[in-house]
Amino acid sequence: MKKDKRYQKIDQISPSFCLAKWLQVTIDLKHGTNHSCHHPERHIIPTQLLENKPDVLHNTPFKKRQRKLMLEGVRPPECSYCWTVEDAPGEHISDRYIKSTDPWAWDSLEKIAKLPWDQDINPTYVEVMFDSICNLSCSYCMADISTSIMKEMKEFGPYPVTDQQHRMPKHADRVDDEENIFQKAFWKWLPTLSQDLQVLRITGGEPLLSPQNDKLLEFFETHTFKKLELIVNTNLSMPSEFVRGKLLRVKKLVDNKRVAGFELYTSLDAFDSAAAYIRSGLNLELFWKNIELVHELFPESQIVIMCAYNILSMGSFDELIQCVRSYKEKGYKLVLDLSYVKNPFYLRANLATEDLRTKLESSYALMKSLCAQGLFSAHELSKLETVYNWVKSPNEQSDILRGRRDFYSFINEYDKRKKTNFLKTFPEYEAFYKTCHKVFEFTEADRLASKK
Ligand code: SF4
Repeated sequence: MKKDKRYQKIDQISPSFCLAKWLQVTIDLKHGTNHSCHHPERHIIPTQLLENKPDVLHNTPFKKRQRKLMLEGVRPPECSYCWTVEDAPGEHISDRYIKSTDPWAWDSLEKIAKLPWDQDINPTYVEVMFDSICNLSCSYCMADISTSIMKEMKEFGPYPVTDQQHRMPKHADRVDDEENIFQKAFWKWLPTLSQDLQVLRITGGEPLLSPQNDKLLEFFETHTFKKLELIVNTNLSMPSEFVRGKLLRVKKLVDNKRVAGFELYTSLDAFDSAAAYIRSGLNLELFWKNIELVHELFPESQIVIMCAYNILSMGSFDELIQCVRSYKEKGYKLVLDLSYVKNPFYLRANLATEDLRTKLESSYALMKSLCAQGLFSAHELSKLETVYNWVKSPNEQSDILRGRRDFYSFINEYDKRKKTNFLKTFPEYEAFYKTCHKVFEFTEADRLASKK
């Protein structure tokens, strides 16, 4: 399977080497955290050096130690997302290979392999979160990333699940409204990246609602980043006139060659009412209208639909594939980019009962046949294949029981808070729901008996 010679070259440096640890970073400027790549947990950016050395937003002492492990052939524990994929039966291509061979990474392989482990380096791919202002409260998301979820958790408190911290704020704000030292460092650092930066991805929250996003557009009106692809992650669930206003400013930057190009990333994890249930607050009518608007303004740009494949994606995933197919057939450069939800544990797709697993089989077969017809790319198929193999890999029975018990508790509480009805939205999940209910009753009886 590792036919690609580039994968062998990466492993020759070390079997745990990954360029994303040097070149890609996601920075949360609200809580002063970062991670490389987006799979590991976020870690704290130390403030002591930041004023004179704004690149500490990326080159933290903790990250340098992970780079050292990689150069020595040791697997950093924080990268378990990739090790799980690589250790699954059969041979699989983890994100370590995919990211390291991405255009923003591959050309730097030899240079980086020779660097001392503690060398500071400019990233070529920066994802930045200015703040957490967000109009949605998705089921798998958390308070640190969405002000809507923050409001929900303040009002209702934690969900009655094993890990009560899910959705609760994890990182305290490390800034006050007057002075955000992380934002200040970012604005100082950004001009110094002009030669290296190939991708700047703005995320949130919902970045189109952030005043910092306007500041960024103003910045590029007076600075030129020749190699830069500007990417915005947006939920597209806002009035089209508002979205049009923001996109017209971006279009001017591209037309005036201030940046090399633009791509829009959005999210959808299932089809129709299932998608709106998972992403609470999502207005699907506006979503598709805005997809059409993006295509009208940037007909040559890719529009990437990120899909956080979770247990609730399974029932309607075939329909989502067919929907994306219909847009592709009309000339839209839509791309379906999947990853699987690992946290929260109780939304993992591998909790599925047999009846739901057959739906994933069907989606995989459908994507394969559409890929053979040239309608989906090998990359899109490989992402679904990763999900498929992960769901099929063996699991501890105790983990499955815990996940199903928590799923039942979570969904009932979610329905109460959002005034939704799970079984009305997902009638095909009745058998799964009943199974989870049984596990819940059994473990509750056990818990009460142990208290006596
Ligand atoms: S090894 Fe995997 S999880 Fe770690 S940085 Fe690379 S792509 Fe991300």
